[in-house]
Parts: sequence; C-alpha cells; structure tokens
Amino acid sequence: MTDFLSDAGLASGAALVPDAGLASGAALVPDPGVAPPLAAAPGLADLVGLDREELKQIVTAVAGDRAGAMRANQLWHWLYHQGATSFETMTTLSKDLRAKLAEVARVSRPEVVRALVSSDGTRKWLLRFADGQEAETVFIPDGERGTLCVSSQVGCTLTCRFCHTGTQKLVRNLTPAEIIGQVMLARDALGEWPSPTDGRLLSNIVMMGMGEPLYNFENVAKALHIAMDNEGISLSRRRITLSTAGVVPMIERCGAELGVQLAISLHAVTDEIRDVIVPINKKYPIKELMAACRAYPGLNNARRITFEYVMLDGVNDTPADARALVRLIKGIPAKVNLIPFNPWPGAPYARSSDTAIKTFSDIVFAAGYASPVRTPRGEDIMAACGQLKSDSVKLRRSERLPA
Ligand code: SAH
Repeated sequence: MTDFLSDAGLASGAALVPDAGLASGAALVPDPGVAPPLAAAPGLADLVGLDREELKQIVTAVAGDRAGAMRANQLWHWLYHQGATSFETMTTLSKDLRAKLAEVARVSRPEVVRALVSSDGTRKWLLRFADGQEAETVFIPDGERGTLCVSSQVGCTLTCRFCHTGTQKLVRNLTPAEIIGQVMLARDALGEWPSPTDGRLLSNIVMMGMGEPLYNFENVAKALHIAMDNEGISLSRRRITLSTAGVVPMIERCGAELGVQLAISLHAVTDEIRDVIVPINKKYPIKELMAACRAYPGLNNARRITFEYVMLDGVNDTPADARALVRLIKGIPAKVNLIPFNPWPGAPYARSSDTAIKTFSDIVFAAGYASPVRTPRGEDIMAACGQLKSDSVKLRRSERLPA
C-alpha cells in the first residue's frame, strides 16, 4: 500500500454528482436538474484539493515512471483547467495510466443536497460532504460577472450575535478539497469549463460563507493557491477576498502567503459594543486589530482593506459612530462596506433605517472613503450575508457514519 492511500485526508469516500444543469429551476423550487449522487466510492484517493507535488506522488506510485512531474502537470490541467470529472476524458494520459488511476483515485465534487435560485438570480447550494456534514455556497451574479461566496467551515465558533451561522455549533473545518470543490461545483453549474481567460461569469471569490477562514488557514490557503494557479482555475488574487472577524495573529500570514484582498468584519467602533456583537473582540480588541490592518503586507491605495459594518438599529448606527469609525481607520487605505442587517428567525436585532444608513454612509464618504451600501442579495432563499446555516449538528461518536 502506498502512502497516499493510507492518508485519511485523501481517502474519504464521497458521492460524485454529474455536472449537467445543476442550478436551473425557478425561484425557491428545489432544482430539478440535480441528479441523485452516484454510489460513494470509499477508499479511493480524491485528487481534488491536491497540489502538484501530491499529484506527482500519486502518478509515480501508480505508474512508477520517471515522467511523473509531466504527467502530474497533465493531470492538473484536466482537473483544474478542463474541470474533468472522469479519467476516461483525460485523453492526453495513456489508456493504461487512466485505468490505473481509476483503480485508486477519484475526482470528487461535493454532493448537492439542495439548489435554490432567488428571484434576483442568486443561487444557493446546500452541499453534503463525505461524512454527511453540510455547508452552503452562494453565487451572486452581477451582469456579465459574478461572485462566489465560499464557506471555510461547517458552522462557526465565533457566535457573532447578529449572524445566523453563529447559532450553529462548529462541527469541523472544511478540507482543501471541500473548499476548492465549492468553486469547481459552481463552475460545473455555470458550464464554465475549460477555465475561460476572460468573460467569466464566476469572476470573483469571497471567503465570506460559513466559518472563520483564518481559523482554518492551512486548508483555505491550499485551496486558494489552487484557485490562483494560472494553469488552472486561474483567479487573480485581486479577485479573491478573504473576510475575517479579526483573528489578529493570522492576518500577516494571510497577506504574506496569499496576497489576497482583506476584509475585516468590524461592525463596531468601541470595544464595549464589539465585545458583545463580535465576541472574538474580547481576545483581539480593536486596537490590536487596527495595528494588524496597518501592517497588512502589500497594503496601498490600489489594494485597500474593506471594513464591513453591519447596520444594526440602535446599536452601532449613529452619526457619532460614523465619525468614530473614520477616526479609527485614519491612514489606512480602506473602503467601508455598509451591510444592512439581514434578518433570520429569532434574531435579536433589526435593520437600521434607510435614513440612518444614508447619513452614516455620507459621513464616511465625506471623510474620503468609499462607503457603498451592500444590496442584500438572495434574501428570499436565505442566502444573504449572515443568513447561512446548515442542519449539521455534532453527532455523538456512536452516531457518526463509518469512515
Ligand atoms: N467569519 C468571517 C467570514 C464570514 S463573512 C467574518 O466574520 O468576516 C460574513 C459577513 O456577513 C461578515 O461580515 C458578517 O459579519 C456579515 N453578517 C453576518 N450576519 C449578518 C447579518 N445577519 N446581516 C448582515 N450581515 C451579516
């Protein structure tokens, strides 16, 4: 048995879903185009989520030849440029190699449990992974372009008071395969393979789905390196935004190793209020967070930090708050994204009035910062910011599916 097959991270079983027509169908109606998953394939190494070196190890292990690097590159091309999901189609590889690969490996996609389409065109997929855990991915079209909102964890540990995901207990981190798998599945649904050079519908990625990406940095980084590789999915780091509630010790690495756009879920200008609504503030208070922002590698006027600020009625939305915000970010190349609070069942807050939001935005804008108000998208399918939640709960060991 070769090493890679005994690696639990590579050999989890999962269902394969055919590509065709994943997300057609009318608003709120479960997508009729979602075919039932094929039988799970336990024991096969999943090639999705692997980097070039790992692909080379697999190719060399099955074919035992010296051209491993070249074949690994070909495999890379099929996986991440062509979006191939079966070995038969990988025609630049010899028949023999394809057959051998099929015996030990597979090309996975997350299983689509539910696909919804909003009246505004936003699409949401509830995905189920090999162990039965679920997470959501949202595609937000914008004319000829579009942004995919990707989850990094099943659930979230942060318990931000205004966020629906925060009411769900963290179950686990997503693997690199499960993270990049969300992008690949969206590409399948949009019919966007081979990876186009321009005119892309899926033009941007935001790590703003479920979970805190900087609490799962290694896996997120591996997935984003795959997404940015220009011989594959090939999304520029300028088109990728990672949003954090403020895991201060990881912010520097995010800039240095990934160089992606940084967004900070700020939401309050005093520790007193932020401690309550974004509890991670008790660990990393505003002053430390701002220092980490000022030190973000590569920060300049062309690469600004986005400060996200959810507008909560009577909590953080006064003109004095807006002026304090401006003082807080002084000197940081930044823009401020105002997010009208999106309600969810049982939420303890309400959305600020349009007037309060407009006044707040005007004050920030007058101080020299772009201050767009984010239009809620996909509200009718609970796909807007902060509305994501899956039914995954922590199962007792005895209830877990066998590995
Ligand atoms: N944990 C990371 C990634 C999640 S991003 C982070 O906190 O940045 C999700 C964004 O939606 C965050 O800015 C979050 O604060 C915001 N959000 C959460 N709940 C919301 C709600 N109910 N209405 C509007 N925005 C919300």
